[in-house]
Amino acid sequence: MTPPVSPAPIIRKLDDLRALTKTWKAKGETIGIVPTMGALHDGHLSLARMARAATDRVIVTIFINPKQFNNPDDLKNYPRTEHEDARKLASIGVDAIYVPDGAQMYPDGFSTTVSLDALTDVLCGAHRLGHFDGVATVVAKLLLQTSADQAFFGEKDYQQLLIVRRMAVDLDICATIVGCPTVREIDGLALSSRNLLLSDRARVKAPALSEVMQQITKGLAAGETMKTLTPAALTQLDNAGFGDVDYLELRAAADLSLLESPTEPARLFAAVWLAGVRLIDNIAI
Ligand code: AMP
Repeated sequence: MTPPVSPAPIIRKLDDLRALTKTWKAKGETIGIVPTMGALHDGHLSLARMARAATDRVIVTIFINPKQFNNPDDLKNYPRTEHEDARKLASIGVDAIYVPDGAQMYPDGFSTTVSLDALTDVLCGAHRLGHFDGVATVVAKLLLQTSADQAFFGEKDYQQLLIVRRMAVDLDICATIVGCPTVREIDGLALSSRNLLLSDRARVKAPALSEVMQQITKGLAAGETMKTLTPAALTQLDNAGFGDVDYLELRAAADLSLLESPTEPARLFAAVWLAGVRLIDNIAI
């Protein structure tokens, strides 16, 4: 059966967004937001559905945030599919799609950066300098611009989720940050907008990442440590056709401190390169 289609208005100006959210707030309605960079897939849509179920009004934001790209080519090549994104969101029935441009988000004279002292210097923070400053800055702005009561983020970007949660608490922003499970392809590959950049050949190799991570999980459950498990895992990734491994680490789920074995709630984190595309993944241990 074809899902009901109700296209949401696309809002490009902050003034228009504020006028709309003011009418909702005046009626006592709650607002949920799903910040994205577009090229929407089922992972994003699962967040929108969770927002739909939890709040009266749902805004999906689409903004390819230049401040969180440390590589100009990555920004240039990032997939842009606004028309298709709007069509996908129509099947969920969100209330608005906010698509600001760069000048709207960072007008002339913009000079503020939100920067965290903790959580940002490991994993992706160590490999993408300035990335999380860009994320924290834009998410703080989006939370304030939308007057969100709740904001929905994927565990796929677990470090980002922790950082956004910390930032919202530290800045007294009254939005609850909700973490949502990672949606995967049937072969285990975590959905990501960057998967669109994989060639057919690379796409066939990509699920090996989650397979290797699952094997480490089993080894840890059997009492082995990261020290003994990592060399074989790196060899397997190499044999499967992966390139550089930025990190393959076990860290505490609460504060990202490095672990040898899961002595507390932990997650296994990986960032690896495959045919010029950087794939990240993490799983709860
Ligand atoms: P992005 O457009 O990549 O910036 O992602 C926007 C939001 O979607 C972030 O909160 C991501 O963590 C979340 N997200 C991305 N991929 C997935 C996925 N496979 N499953 C669940 N959430 C995801």
